[in-house]
Amino acid sequence: MNNPVLELAAIEKSYSKGSSNKIEVLKGVNLKLFPGETVALVAPSGAGKSTLLQISGLLDKPLGGKIFINGTEIQNKNDNHLTMIRRREIGFVYQFHHLLPELTALENIGLPALLAGTNQAEAIKNASLLLEQVNLSGKENNAPNELSGGERQRVAIARAMSNNPSCLIMDEPTGNLDTKNVENFMTLLMDMISIKNVTL
Ligand code: ADP
Repeated sequence: MNNPVLELAAIEKSYSKGSSNKIEVLKGVNLKLFPGETVALVAPSGAGKSTLLQISGLLDKPLGGKIFINGTEIQNKNDNHLTMIRRREIGFVYQFHHLLPELTALENIGLPALLAGTNQAEAIKNASLLLEQVNLSGKENNAPNELSGGERQRVAIARAMSNNPSCLIMDEPTGNLDTKNVENFMTLLMDMISIKNVTL
């Protein structure tokens, strides 16, 4: 059987405010996600979902436990190495699109590939293809403020796919969309991850 794309083993995380005020958020979380698997994390507000997603995406460090990405333990990697793994293996989409306002849709989509060392011609070619896959042909040169909310989130999916990640992590990606746009977003997302066998 394949290695899990993402494995969390006994992950712990707490936050302290002063010496007496400590909240334990994650108390020994175990999770294995296999290639192509889609998993939804559902829990009340404040339960620790975002904390778990940030740790899973190597954006925050746990206080205890181990993380494996495609079978490699990432615990002892330095920050540069972690950034490299994150860029190659993980795509993020948040509730707020976090697109760079001064870049066009196409440039936003191509940026992660450029940062990962892909040459410009290839990054732009792949970005064009992704833009087409999220049904935004014709909007290449629009800045984020020239796109609707639904279109911005579709650019955010395309950007998250820029480096062909093995895992997509999304934190309430449809939280700001109306019902119609949620449907569009989900249909597009599900098509995309099944074509590319991405773990969500
Ligand atoms: P969820 O995403 O499920 O709503 P979070 O992971 O955002 O939950 O937060 C879990 C708990 O940790 C909450 O009680 C929150 O207030 C607390 N928390 C989150 N981030 C921090 C932080 N940086 N400092 C202190 N407390 C935090």
